[in-house]
Amino acid sequence: MSHTRGLADDCWICQSLHEPAHLVYYESKTSIAKLNPDQLFRGYTFLALKWHAEQLHQLSDRDRKLFLKDMTNIGTALASALNPDRVNYELLGNTQAHLHWHIVPRYVTDPMWGRPIWAGNRPRKRLTQEAYSQLASSIRVHLPRAGRAPGRRL
Ligand SMILES: [Zn+2]
Repeated sequence: MSHTRGLADDCWICQSLHEPAHLVYYESKTSIAKLNPDQLFRGYTFLALKWHAEQLHQLSDRDRKLFLKDMTNIGTALASALNPDRVNYELLGNTQAHLHWHIVPRYVTDPMWGRPIWAGNRPRKRLTQEAYSQLASSIRVHLPRAGRAPGRRL
C-alpha cells in the first residue's frame, strides 16, 4: 500500500473510475459517484475515492473529512431526489479493497427491507441507458454545482 496519491494498475476501481460514463453523476477533488448498474434499490450509488487507498483510518484527517462530506452530500441528494424510507451507508472492501461507499436508498417496498442488502439472493434490475441518465440527472440537481460531473448533459 502506498501513501502517495496514485492509481493502482491491478485495481479494478482505479482502472474504471470514470466508467461507464453515463452512470457517473458527481465528482469532487476527493471522490466520484456513479450509479450501480443494478438499480433494484433505486438510486444505489458507489462513491469511490479518486486515488488508491484501502483503509479509512489511513487517510489523512483532511482527506477523510472530505470523503465523508461527499458521502453525506450524496446521501442528502438521494434523500431529496428519491424520498427513500432510509439511506444505508456501507464501507466494506472485502472483494474490492479500494475505498468506496455503497450508498443505498432503502424503501419499505424493497424486497430486502429490514435486512442488509447482502442478506440473501435478490433479483437484479437493469435500466435503459436513457433511464440511467434521467435518474442521474434527478440526483445531480440536488448536489453542489461545483461538484457535478463536468461535461455531462443534464
Ligand atoms: Zn484502486
